Amino acid sequence: MFVMMESARLEALHLFSDPATGLRAIVAIHDTRLGPALGGCRYLPYADEPSAIEDAIRLARGMSYKAALAGLELGGGKAVIMRPPHVANRAALFEAFGRMVESLAGRYVTAVDSGTSSVDMDCVARHTRHVTSTSAAGDPSGHTALGVLAGIRASAWARLGSDDLEGLRIAIQGLGNVGFALAEQLSAAGAELFVSDLDPGRVRLAEEQFGAHGVACAALLETPCEILAPCGLGGVLDENSVRRLHCAAVAGAANNQLASPEAGDQLEARGILYAPDYVINAGGLIHAALMHKNAGLAAITAHLSRIGQRLTEIYAHAQADKRSPARIADALAERLLYRV
Ligand code: NAD
Repeated sequence: MFVMMESARLEALHLFSDPATGLRAIVAIHDTRLGPALGGCRYLPYADEPSAIEDAIRLARGMSYKAALAGLELGGGKAVIMRPPHVANRAALFEAFGRMVESLAGRYVTAVDSGTSSVDMDCVARHTRHVTSTSAAGDPSGHTALGVLAGIRASAWARLGSDDLEGLRIAIQGLGNVGFALAEQLSAAGAELFVSDLDPGRVRLAEEQFGAHGVACAALLETPCEILAPCGLGGVLDENSVRRLHCAAVAGAANNQLASPEAGDQLEARGILYAPDYVINAGGLIHAALMHKNAGLAAITAHLSRIGQRLTEIYAHAQADKRSPARIADALAERLLYRV
């Protein structure tokens, strides 16, 4: 365990159990040098404890990098609750989790993530103030989409010489909370949309509302387009899929899009611009962090607009160094975190 912590440079790992509610939670605090560790709480079934712990550590590290590059005074952390096969009282389970977050005295601030909702965070908030994305704070997905839109414009500018999206072919994989909001914004900007989702109902809705072209899930990555926006699950860019892409740039919301760092190099070698996922999808974190500080909407919007700027800087750096934007983003984040 300590070897895994040390290789991820993880500060602390907390395990909590509450047999009365069935809660088994892991809180990974990656780094608090820039501020308290903020990161969502996943509520998913896991095959075993090591895979839940590994997930928490990997995700916590990603949050430190994301916060550092978004210019937030925050560290990175993540919580994973191992979802039991049956839970008698979900509210009681999240209340128990709230008591555990409170025991960390503000070193970790929790939020929604896969499998959790604002209603769950409302239960957490009964026992701690170290929680955001409650019903009162609001769902961050629309802000994530706004940040991705800014990132798509920056990517279009860098690769195509214009940030005008009118007539640009943009393929969106996944029409969930973020993907659908992004489709709406892109459609308003005049883009031609190609969309897929595991749920055919979401695709139909995008066809009706935005005149999007529905594409089979298996064919989406190969769709000829200017911009590919992965907004479903992670790991979609691997040696095999990168070979099949027909786009000028990849710029989407999904976390951990690269199956390995080498996939980023492969994109670079193919001349496909890659927007590092944790830079372009930081809008949700920015919203959650600033809402937690009671900042107004104007401050959030101003902060979101810096995502495009940050990407433009990373692209310039990558071009000058002849390295992939993913490697440049990692190096910049590590410099901010570790002063290396
Ligand atoms: P979501 O669960 O609401 O939506 C994901 C959608 O992708 C679902 O509709 C699902 O059916 C679809 N999907 C999954 N795999 C697919 C595939 N292979 N092909 C086509 N469709 C597929 O999730 P979300 O909140 O919209 O988040 C989307 C991604 O963005 C996730 O990777 C998430 O971690 C990341 N992200 C989200 C936020 C946020 O604010 N919600 C912030 C940062 C990053």
